[in-house]
Amino acid sequence: MPNSEFLQEHLSHVLTKDGYIKVNSKLEVRGQENHYALGDVADVGEGKLGYLAQQQGVYLAKTIIKSFAGRSNKAYKRNPFMALIPIGQDRGVVQLPFAVTTMKLLVNLKQKDLFINKIYKSFGVR
Ligand SMILES: Cc1cc2nc3c(=O)[nH]c(=O)nc-3n(C[C@H](O)[C@H](O)[C@H](O)COP(=O)(O)OP(=O)(O)OC[C@H]3O[C@@H](n4cnc5c(N)ncnc54)[C@H](O)[C@@H]3O)c2cc1C
Repeated sequence: MPNSEFLQEHLSHVLTKDGYIKVNSKLEVRGQENHYALGDVADVGEGKLGYLAQQQGVYLAKTIIKSFAGRSNKAYKRNPFMALIPIGQDRGVVQLPFAVTTMKLLVNLKQKDLFINKIYKSFGVR
């Protein structure tokens, strides 16, 4: 469930009936100026996943930098749902936009460390 109760008092118009923050194609909060939302709490229209929240963050950073220069950014391109779920040490399942598979080659991508190092690196802590 989205943790957006704190918006109810003054900004209830930006919330969907399920409590997600309404955003337009550029991740701007609908009905507000200079407000943006991303990640799990935003009604972006793609999976609630960390790697997507990161992509939305990169997009928004670029959008804001461009806006300082008086330029606008193109719409955020939504990604199809994908999931890579390791189960134990040598099994797992992968959901691609066109198929679901247990192919080891793909499952093994995440098996080693669940992408933990990759995520730390992306935050600049390793
Ligand atoms: C078990 C599990 C496994 C997952 N596995 C994966 C995976 O393998 N790959 C993947 O890509 N994604 C995965 N996800 C999804 C991923 O964790 C989320 O999509 C991602 O964390 C969303 O990031 P976020 O910054 O939007 O929200 P969050 O990471 O939830 O961050 C929101 C932060 O805001 C804080 N907060 C809440 N309310 C307030 C408030 N009123 N004031 C101040 N702070 C507040 C919270 O404490 C939290 O720290 C998984 C999720 C779960 C639960």
